[in-house]
Amino acid sequence: MREFTRREMLSAFLGLPVALAACRSGTPPELPEGEIVGASDIIGHKIRDGIRVVPPPDSWERTKVVIVGGGVAGLAAAWRFHKAGFEDFVLLELESAPGGTARSGTSSIVPYPWGAHYIPAPMRDNPWLVTLLGEMGILEGNDAAGEPVVAEQFLCRDPEERIFYKGRWYEGLYLHAGASAEDHAQLDSFHSEINRWVGWRDARGRRAFTIPVAAGSDDAEVTALDRMSMAEWLDRRNLTSPRLRWLVNYACRDDYGMQMEQTSAWAGLFYFASRVTKPGDDARPLITWPEGNGRLVQHLYGQVQSEVRLGAAVSEIIPTNAGGTEGVDVIAVDRDGQAARGFHAERVVFAAPQFLTRYVIRPYRDNPPAHVAEFEYGAWMVANLFLKDRPASRGFPLAWDNVMYESDSLGYVVATHQRGLDRGPTVFTYYYPLCDEDPKEARSKLLATGWRDWADVTLTDLARPHPEIRSLAERLDVMRWGHAMIRPRPGFVWGAARAAAAKPYRGIHFANTDLSGVPLFEEAFYNGIKAAEAVMVLRKS
Ligand SMILES: Cc1cc2nc3c(=O)[nH]c(=O)nc-3n(C[C@H](O)[C@H](O)[C@H](O)COP(=O)(O)OP(=O)(O)OC[C@H]3O[C@@H](n4cnc5c(N)ncnc54)[C@H](O)[C@@H]3O)c2cc1C
Repeated sequence: MREFTRREMLSAFLGLPVALAACRSGTPPELPEGEIVGASDIIGHKIRDGIRVVPPPDSWERTKVVIVGGGVAGLAAAWRFHKAGFEDFVLLELESAPGGTARSGTSSIVPYPWGAHYIPAPMRDNPWLVTLLGEMGILEGNDAAGEPVVAEQFLCRDPEERIFYKGRWYEGLYLHAGASAEDHAQLDSFHSEINRWVGWRDARGRRAFTIPVAAGSDDAEVTALDRMSMAEWLDRRNLTSPRLRWLVNYACRDDYGMQMEQTSAWAGLFYFASRVTKPGDDARPLITWPEGNGRLVQHLYGQVQSEVRLGAAVSEIIPTNAGGTEGVDVIAVDRDGQAARGFHAERVVFAAPQFLTRYVIRPYRDNPPAHVAEFEYGAWMVANLFLKDRPASRGFPLAWDNVMYESDSLGYVVATHQRGLDRGPTVFTYYYPLCDEDPKEARSKLLATGWRDWADVTLTDLARPHPEIRSLAERLDVMRWGHAMIRPRPGFVWGAARAAAAKPYRGIHFANTDLSGVPLFEEAFYNGIKAAEAVMVLRKS
């Protein structure tokens, strides 16, 4: 196959005008040092290709429960077991570090995220999350309305967000500069719609949009929103303002890695309405750390570390029924696909993504249930850029989240922001979701693009607001998330597949964030807790 030229490659990711401008000088600029890090696609592909390794008889052990996957969902299940005083479990994680898509990295300057980087302050009706944050010393009591109060040092510092448009930065995410009276009227009308949903209650008093999703309403008026796209929802209300549509599209790209034409209106509205306590309030404030949700991962991991085996990839899960007693055998291999260990367990908490079930659960291999194919995942590239100093900014100063109106990327977050260090070296975490219509194509594009090209895309994009960025960059590492997050396309959140996938199967309880239809820390955490509790109830009965 013909290799793409630099201009074609930049044009594919950043558009032709940016590519033409970048290629004007002829010679491609030098790149800093760097590499592709994590996620292990080699062992992942071996598992997909049906690797079969049988552990020798002396490599089997007995344990009551095996947790598959040490992302937030698996760690939450382990944490819940630990809190209940139940320690007879093993958590198997494929990677050499825990956390899944909420992993973080460390550097001599500051730790930084590789994926998830914030959570909104929880509401009181999310009790386990309130317990976790309380245990971490992040909460300090409740306000007059009984809602948890977050200690100030964990709230995202000001300035939180800024947006780059035509050569200058502006405060916030909505582009007020140059907006017409009609643009503002449509923004107000959008907020009124959101407020209506914030105040909406069903006959049982449940909110339309709440975190976790499971506590929200399944009333027909709410689920009907899942049958249209977010773009269609705006069209039906004549919400045509380009700035408003940009904001809504940005929200879909930011939370789901999808364009608003591809996103369920239920999911689009969920983003705006689930984080607001009551009509007219601002959204709940954001909690963040330099390493993003890696801080939450480290806390959970710290509590359960002795039961966690890293570098252990589950290759096969075999439901058994010896002597009429239900059990589950689990086989794990090391990251080379060589040494294997077996576990005879009573139950399994499957906290890895649903698409993997058809490769590892033995009866699913020959006969995958229809619901598995309905789970689609988007592809993302994340780059961490180590800078010896901050680049200059025209207009509004550097914020935590820095977004470019005219880019297909999501811009960057600044790891030192929470430390209050506004000068000197820092790390920028740059996010690029591949929002193609076909997620398989997006994944091929992501993986076919190597470190050089991703580094070039990142630096060329960031050179728009920061022309001197290349001279400040000391290192640039790249993470390619092939199955980054579940895609809540129309029909998925309230469709049959999600409900079918959540049901236990022959001693296997499912727990990934994908079961909620939306990719959030809180959903992974909730699904992990719920699966652990279901296992504990069954064990007692
Ligand atoms: C780029 C990006 C940015 C994000 N930003 C945010 C954010 O700011 N806030 C937020 O709330 N959410 C965010 N998310 C989503 C968030 O990361 C997830 O919703 C949540 O952390 C998912 O946790 P999980 O445990 O359900 O799944 P995962 O993170 O996918 O974890 C699954 C784990 O299973 C392991 N595994 C897979 N196969 C096997 C196997 N065969 N054997 C053993 N282990 C296996 C994986 O290695 C992984 O560790 C983001 C996601 C991405 C990709």
